[in-house]
Amino acid sequence: MLLPIVKYGDKVLREKSHAVASVTPALRKLAEDMIETMHSAEGVGLAAQQVGHRESLFVVDVPPECIKDLEVRAFNAPIRMPLVAFNPVILASEGSQRDTEGCLSFPGMSGSVTRPFEVTLSSLDIDGNPQVVNARGLLARAILHEFDHLNGVLYVDHLSAVEKLTMAGKLKKLAKANGGAR
Ligand SMILES: [Zn+2]
Repeated sequence: MLLPIVKYGDKVLREKSHAVASVTPALRKLAEDMIETMHSAEGVGLAAQQVGHRESLFVVDVPPECIKDLEVRAFNAPIRMPLVAFNPVILASEGSQRDTEGCLSFPGMSGSVTRPFEVTLSSLDIDGNPQVVNARGLLARAILHEFDHLNGVLYVDHLSAVEKLTMAGKLKKLAKANGGAR
């Protein structure tokens, strides 16, 4: 089932998620619906707040062919896509990468964001089993972007002051159309 995607301006995007006690059938269905919604919107990640939920949950799907660097692609190969992560915790991160980033809650917008190059994340999978993933490059970026959402942090918070200023008009307009929360 496709879920409506919340846009910048809705206060839920600034709320912190809460851990789930267990992965119930209803939460499993939510994860499946989020995957369907993410694919339909041609995104590579979606967090619970973006569909109006507050559970600690995100989904990510970065197909291997999206990763141009073959070494990075091989490094990420053991990670099953789509990745479903309940109650994610970052165990380690290292390195640095800077690239253009967008978000389904900010349609038609993008900006440059610096993030760690590699991340190690522990979480529960869609069956409620513990999993640890170690990802690099674009997949690490997507995981870190979605992890931020669960703490009410948005990619625009990472932009340089100059870039923020360039986008200020668009951001203000988008926020105003969706409830006014910044
Ligand atoms: Zn996002």
